[in-house]
Amino acid sequence: MTSTAPRLLQVRRTTRVTPRMIRVTLTGDELDGFPGHGPDRRIKMFFPVDGQDRPAVPRASTAGPVWPAGEARPVIRTYTVRRFDDAAGELDVDFVVHSGHGPAAAWAQEAVPGRWVGVSEPGGRWAPDADAAFQVVIGDESALPAVATVLETLEDTPGVPVLAFLEVADAGEEQELPGAAEVTWVHRGDEPPGAPLVAAVRAAELPSGRGQAWLSGESAAVRDLRSHLLEDRGLDRRAVYATGYWRAR
Ligand SMILES: Cc1cc2nc3c(=O)[nH]c(=O)nc-3n(C[C@H](O)[C@H](O)[C@H](O)COP(=O)(O)OP(=O)(O)OC[C@H]3O[C@@H](n4cnc5c(N)ncnc54)[C@H](O)[C@@H]3O)c2cc1C
Repeated sequence: MTSTAPRLLQVRRTTRVTPRMIRVTLTGDELDGFPGHGPDRRIKMFFPVDGQDRPAVPRASTAGPVWPAGEARPVIRTYTVRRFDDAAGELDVDFVVHSGHGPAAAWAQEAVPGRWVGVSEPGGRWAPDADAAFQVVIGDESALPAVATVLETLEDTPGVPVLAFLEVADAGEEQELPGAAEVTWVHRGDEPPGAPLVAAVRAAELPSGRGQAWLSGESAAVRDLRSHLLEDRGLDRRAVYATGYWRAR
C-alpha cells in the first residue's frame, strides 16, 4: 500500500490509440508535484465501485493507510504512467481493452470527462545499465505503455543496440514507438497469449556480450522468458528486470 495518500484526479479526455487501446488523460489540482517522469513508472489506480462517484481512498498516517469508515473499498489495479506533463497538468494512462471483462478495462471504456479515479505515487526501479552491450525489451500490449517509456530512456544511450520483441493481437495494434530499436512485432491471432512472443524471443539472434533485458506481459510467458534469458542466453540475474502484468485464466 502507498505511504502517501492517493491523489484524486478527473478524466480530461480519452483517445483511441488503437482499436484495443484507450488513452485516458487525467488532470486535477492534486496532480501538483506528482513525480511522474522517468521510465516504467508504475501506479496503483483506485476505481470507484457501483454507486460511487469518487473512489474511497485511504488517508496516509504513520500507522499505515486509514480507510474512510462506511465506504466501499475501491477496485485497485496497477497501470503505467505513459506520459506526465506537469506544465499542462496532464497524466496519460493507456488501457488495454481486453476480453477478460475486468473492472479497470471497463472503467476506461466508459470514461468521460469529469469521472474520478485515485492514483498512487509512482514506483518502479528499472534503470539502464550504461555498460550493457545491448538492450532487449520484451512485452505484450499491456506492457506497451511502459515499453514506450523504456525506449524513450534508451534514446540517451546511442550506439547500444536495442532489440524489442512485442506481441499484440494483430497488425492494427502496432504502435509508433520512440527511439531506434529494432522492433519485431508478433501477432497473437488465435494462439494463447504469450505463445508467439516466447517463440519469437527463443528463436531470435541476440548480439554477443553482456546484455540487459526488460520484460513484462502475461505472467507465465514472462516466467518462461526470464528463465530463457538467464539459463540459455547467460544474462546476469541483476540484468534481467521481469514483471508479470496479468495472468491468463
Ligand atoms: C507494473 C504493472 C504495470 C501495468 N501497466 C499497464 C498499463 O499501462 N496498461 C494496461 O492495460 N495494463 C497494465 N498492466 C496490466 C493490468 O494491471 C492488468 O491487465 C489488470 O488485470 C487489468 O485489470 P482489469 O480490472 O481490467 O481485469 P481483471 O479484473 O484483473 O481481470 C479480469 C480477467 O481479464 C483477464 N485480463 C486481465 N488483463 C488482461 C490483458 N491485458 N489481456 C487479456 N486478458 C486480460 C484476466 O486474465 C482475468 O480473467 C500493468 C500491470 C502491472 C503489474
